[in-house]
Amino acid sequence: MPKHYIRIAGLKEGEHRQAFEIKDKFFEAYEQSEVKTGSFIVNTLVVLRGLDRKLTINIEGTITNLLCDYCAQKLEWPISITSNFVIKESEKETESTDEVIYVLSNQHQLNINQLIFEMINLSIPSKRTHNKSEQEEGKCDKEMLQLLEEYATKTNKETDPRWEVLNKLK
Ligand SMILES: [Zn+2]
Repeated sequence: MPKHYIRIAGLKEGEHRQAFEIKDKFFEAYEQSEVKTGSFIVNTLVVLRGLDRKLTINIEGTITNLLCDYCAQKLEWPISITSNFVIKESEKETESTDEVIYVLSNQHQLNINQLIFEMINLSIPSKRTHNKSEQEEGKCDKEMLQLLEEYATKTNKETDPRWEVLNKLK
């Protein structure tokens, strides 16, 4: 997988933009990735003001091949996310946090693969379903929905044995 480097040193004061395209291939390197396919544009902005360096990463695109919680069919999930970081120098390798990226003082480039990976994977919703209009368009598999509904009603109707005991006491 190609690394996605942004320039972080040797830059003039001001704003510096770069853009990358991310496709299915990107996720092959991440076995644990929940996202396996999709298409995204990553825009980076490094702002240099005196000694301050800030990095903004914006990712827009669509995660594909997620499975709908309702009907278990594939769905597409559009995302638009932005994260802001402060870039700080460190004498030795220091683990970055959610807000601060530590780089070595002689480091001129930053590989943002891991950041892209995390941002995309964190944008997966915990509940993923076809949305209302898609459901009305019939994207949510009707047969599966019906099965699920039947199952739900059946489970509700089954009497809890504890209630039966209480009923007998009446
Ligand atoms: Zn669905």
